Amino acid sequence: MARRVVVLGIESTAHTFGCGIVDSSGNILANVNNTYIPAKGGIHPRESAQHHSDVAPRVIRTALSEAKLSMDQVDAIAVSLGPGLGPCLRVGATICRALAVAYDKPLIPVNHAVAHIEIAKLTTGFKDPLIVFVSGGNTIIAAYSDGRYRVFGETLDIALGNLLDAFAREAHLPHPGGPRVEELAKKGERLLKLPYIVKGQDVSYSGLLTAAVKLLSEGHRIEDLCYSLQEYAFSMLAEVAERALAYTEKKELVLTGGVAANSELQRKLMMVAEEHNAKFGVVPKALSGDNGAMIAWTGVLAYVHGVTINVEKSYVKPRWRLDEVDIPWI
Ligand code: ATP
Repeated sequence: MARRVVVLGIESTAHTFGCGIVDSSGNILANVNNTYIPAKGGIHPRESAQHHSDVAPRVIRTALSEAKLSMDQVDAIAVSLGPGLGPCLRVGATICRALAVAYDKPLIPVNHAVAHIEIAKLTTGFKDPLIVFVSGGNTIIAAYSDGRYRVFGETLDIALGNLLDAFAREAHLPHPGGPRVEELAKKGERLLKLPYIVKGQDVSYSGLLTAAVKLLSEGHRIEDLCYSLQEYAFSMLAEVAERALAYTEKKELVLTGGVAANSELQRKLMMVAEEHNAKFGVVPKALSGDNGAMIAWTGVLAYVHGVTINVEKSYVKPRWRLDEVDIPWI
């Protein structure tokens, strides 16, 4: 039997600094995350990076103590090198390089988007799903083919979570806006007319945001606006996901990323899956947002397949695309 491997993974791509510890059987031994909440407006990269430096020692120590492990018992360090915000990525990368050098451990490069996918596969047990990955910074429909995750649709401008958060800010709702928009949408009664923009396999959300903000300034009921915004944004995504499912003929559909917590989005995508006789799964809420466990688990997969990186070459990659990453473990 293969030796048990334990990987410590660090997430710091945007608002969350997280440390996860996972073993090669997929046991999550620790998952400690601390999220920066801006006083007002969206994420300020330098402030978020400062938050990460402040909380990092405590988060890592807590994770090790939860896992009841010392650094000597960790086999390798996984670092989320991108995509993400440069200043935030650099904090995580610097810490991981320091840990790798100080404790003489291999360093494993992890793509943040791949990590959202792998944690969804681990927790749902799905093997070869069509993936809908929606968060504050990403809106991607992807599936595995020929050595990589290939993109079968994405946003042409802002991400779905960003759309919900930006609209919520305009409506003076607290951050993060997604959960609050979901709550208010449940009390919506009227579907207001908004732009529905799908271009080929891609969606565009910035025109939808502008139009929704305009209706807000005209004094429409906030509940109707939230309901309408969700209806349009989620239906656009469901249309593209359905075509991707029909084209790829995958028999599983998995929803991952922070916006995966939304029950209406889950309902719409479940209907798409049922229509095509595919199984539907959602990453558990505790692992849907950015977290260290997903970096550690993807680190395990990469490490046991020989993927490591020299500390000198471990540059951060703020624009590292999902479809640029080789996936040797499938
Ligand atoms: P990434 O770096 O992967 O783009 P992120 O920094 O946006 O991620 P996540 O924690 O993955 O972080 O996702 C946060 C997003 O999820 C926010 O936009 C938030 O509003 C959204 N979100 C969380 N819960 C819900 C919900 N119930 N409904 C809609 N959106 C939600």
